[in-house]
Amino acid sequence: MRDPRYDILFEPVKIGPITAPNRFFSVPHATGHNPLMPNGSIGMREMKAEGGWGVVSMQLAEIDPTSDISNLPIEKFWDDTDVKSHALLVERIKKHGSLTAIELAHTGIRARNMDTGTPVLGPSSMRILKPQNPIQSKAMDKQDIKDFRESHKRAVHRAKQAGYDMVYVYAAHDAALVWHFLNPMYNHRTDEYGGSFENRLRLLREVLHDTMEAAAGDVAVAVRIPAHDFKEGSPLTYDNEARAVIESLADVPDLWDVNVAGWPRDSGTSRFDDEGHQEKYTGYVKQITSKPVVGVGRYTSVDAMVGLVKKGVFDLIGASRPSIADPFLPNKVKEGRIDDIRECIGCNVCVSSDAYSVPLMCTQNPTISQEWRRGWHPENIPAAPRAENTLIIGSGPAGLECALTLAKAGHTVTIAEKDAEFGGRVRHESALKGLAAWGRVKDYRLYQLQQMGNVSLYAESEIAPGDVADFEADNIIVATGSKWCNSGAGATTFSAIDGFAEHAITPDDVMAGAEINGPVVIYDDDHYYMGNVLAAHLASLGHEVHLVCPLPSIAEWMGYTLESPRVLDQMVELGVHMHPNTTVKSWTGSALKVTRSDSGTDMSDIAGGTLISVGVRNPSDGLLTALKDMSELADKVSGIGDCLAPGIIQAAVFSGHAEARKRIGDEPKNGIYKRETPVLFPR
Ligand code: ADP
Ligand code: SF4
Repeated sequence: MRDPRYDILFEPVKIGPITAPNRFFSVPHATGHNPLMPNGSIGMREMKAEGGWGVVSMQLAEIDPTSDISNLPIEKFWDDTDVKSHALLVERIKKHGSLTAIELAHTGIRARNMDTGTPVLGPSSMRILKPQNPIQSKAMDKQDIKDFRESHKRAVHRAKQAGYDMVYVYAAHDAALVWHFLNPMYNHRTDEYGGSFENRLRLLREVLHDTMEAAAGDVAVAVRIPAHDFKEGSPLTYDNEARAVIESLADVPDLWDVNVAGWPRDSGTSRFDDEGHQEKYTGYVKQITSKPVVGVGRYTSVDAMVGLVKKGVFDLIGASRPSIADPFLPNKVKEGRIDDIRECIGCNVCVSSDAYSVPLMCTQNPTISQEWRRGWHPENIPAAPRAENTLIIGSGPAGLECALTLAKAGHTVTIAEKDAEFGGRVRHESALKGLAAWGRVKDYRLYQLQQMGNVSLYAESEIAPGDVADFEADNIIVATGSKWCNSGAGATTFSAIDGFAEHAITPDDVMAGAEINGPVVIYDDDHYYMGNVLAAHLASLGHEVHLVCPLPSIAEWMGYTLESPRVLDQMVELGVHMHPNTTVKSWTGSALKVTRSDSGTDMSDIAGGTLISVGVRNPSDGLLTALKDMSELADKVSGIGDCLAPGIIQAAVFSGHAEARKRIGDEPKNGIYKRETPVLFPR
């Protein structure tokens, strides 16, 4: 039964000519599905509609070839050719009673146009907003502006043709042409589209009016715009011109979809931004407009959502990541199943899919993007053909996910964990500075498992090869994880470094409470979070910390999770001494001998009392190997997660889920899932 406190979230909301069935609004977000993957994209979004999201939006859709973010998996909505797949998406979403929206976009000087070969268009002639690219934009002349406005209108008509309920004017993320016109850092024009605030606003005002006219009351019109820009020097802040934009156009659109710019701030991770972190910057909008407002903030707390509506902050609760981690969040609230919500942990592994141009991956939801290609449903696990006994050894993310999936399928599951507590690496890592929310990976699964009558959980139960036969299990799944190696070997140095094996400690040692003496030297040849999280953790405890890394900048992989700038700021703030571009030759016992990575030139030693090696991890696969060698068990045994191949938490969860599906016969033959096939045009 639903708690009546939450009824307010199920009130319909009028948005211009349409009415959203509830306040749960899945805002446009990157999905990694490019336009050649329409089935996957439809499957993923349909699942959200099935899960109760009142509005399900399509991601950023280029309106024409002059806006081409080549190689990023962005939707194309150039001409009538594209209408067909969008119409199918619309049909599939509406089937569940949800509304659909499309984010019509021209990405201005954030485009690259390397595929289309046409000049990048912007307010001024300047380098595009990707400094690594030797591309300069063309300053749009009056004809270009006219063409853009006409093109946007045509896109609105196509959206209506496809059946969308709502069209967006996209002005967000520092990635929209109309925003580039607004910002004097990019707009150096001297005509009526540049200079004064009114002039810079002109294009957005015109396009919005064009869109309202083309929408003609048949579809709603939303504007997605930052209510605050974090870019240094930008006047588009919540207390200055961003507010002025919203005041100037207050009641023109049917809906304001507000966030902060740029994307790294909009999609802030839990390490740096709490739930609701945008409210300070977006909360004012509703006081300015009489139109409904939707906003985001990685909301997973239902009470917080209710508070937002009651306080008059937002009318609709916007979500991208919470809707990825749990497409069924609204239905769970509706059915009074709050404890079943799989809360987003704010890690941004999903965001990395965009840069890699692969369908969304999620740490909490291993079924995301697999809806069409593998037929996986996030909630409904097919019944196992036989109710088998399954022993799972190890309770990290892989073991817990495998156990939960098999238990839901009807297996009788026993989990044996050698430690006193369950959770494996996430239990330890979530105790580090900034990573508390990662504990949700274990909390969600453990809670679910504890509710099930067919699951037994045993802590302090280390399993040796000789113990396994006693369980008389049909399936034996080894999920024993991995341990960090102290040899110095890592992503760029493949073999041991002199002096490390004798002296270095590992992240596991630190998490287990190892004593830290003197200045700490962390050698990070992993390039994801562990090196810099430990640096922040130990610096916060008062230690002098040196973070040494062979690549040109620290935390390189965190560019994919949009965290790099925040990590660097944090290191500076905490006084961590950073040594990028530094290759380590040896540890003397009290100092690192180092050279510059680029030139090989010797540099001054980096002295320290404690050396921490963050490089590769050794799979804890001794038990797995031993069991596989036992002929009577070999067929029943498989390994999952880090004990097979140490990786990120998302990979461990996925591995556990995939193995469970395999065990119940719900996996594609030969591991080959359905693929999107291009249409070949005969001559
Ligand atoms: P993964 O990320 O693959 O899930 P983790 O390292 O997080 O791996 O978890 C592995 C878990 O397995 C740890 O909690 C560890 O204590 C447990 N474990 C390791 N070896 C054994 C064993 N022989 N018997 C029971 N539990 C084990
Ligand atoms: Fe949330 Fe991480 Fe999943 Fe993204 S990948 S939705 S941030 S849990």
